[in-house]
Amino acid sequence: MMILKTSHLKKYYGREESLVKALDDVNVSVKEGQFAAIIGTSGSGKSTLLNMLGGLDTPTSGSVQVENQNIGEMTEEQLTVFRRKRIGFIFQNYNLVPYLTAYENMVLPIRLDGKQEDNKFLEEVVHFLELDGKLSNYPSHLSGGQQQRVAIARALIAKPAIILADEPTGNLDSRTSDKVIDLLKMTSAKFHQTIVMITHNPEIAEKADVRIRIEDGKICV
Ligand code: ADP
Ligand code: MG
Repeated sequence: MMILKTSHLKKYYGREESLVKALDDVNVSVKEGQFAAIIGTSGSGKSTLLNMLGGLDTPTSGSVQVENQNIGEMTEEQLTVFRRKRIGFIFQNYNLVPYLTAYENMVLPIRLDGKQEDNKFLEEVVHFLELDGKLSNYPSHLSGGQQQRVAIARALIAKPAIILADEPTGNLDSRTSDKVIDLLKMTSAKFHQTIVMITHNPEIAEKADVRIRIEDGKICV
């Protein structure tokens, strides 16, 4: 039922008088299929938490479990494979490869994994995200909102356990941002896809199924 769970998660940076408790005993869980928002002000520890959830950085102590697997117990190699197969990332700046078309960008993670994409699912996702007719465009010939929808499609078609998104609408104007958030919400519901999104914006967080509030590295209720 819980696809993601942290237990007494701590991340400290620096030492002695310059010690920063970026995460201080964080216990959170996310249910399968949920669209969850991590909300907090700048410097509250959101990106640090997302990096721990995605196995991009190592905790000082405590654990992260994804699909009942403690990712802290994996070797570097196992973690790399796990991340590639089970975690999808969406970034503020889209992170599309500029010399690949929208389609090539979408299938890149699957191809790198040595697999073939599920064409029927890809078509469904492309249609759902209103990207029909844009597949042969290069990123420079797509609007910001379209680029972010390509990034969502890329994450989704690899069928990860969780999609992690750090301020996915940070570079978009408010109208486009609303549309992308609505699409993320609908994506989560339609494809039963667990999505964890970071935001500093309460209006955006309101659209999620659940909110995890973080302040000075601590979860508040
Ligand atoms: P947010 O994403 O909510 O803005 P961060 O997780 O980036 O917050 O940062 C939380 C705290 O940890 C901040 O005080 C920040 O300065 C500090 N921090 C983040 N990354 C590092 C790092 N690599 N080294 C030292 N301090 C860091
Ligand atoms: Mg951040």
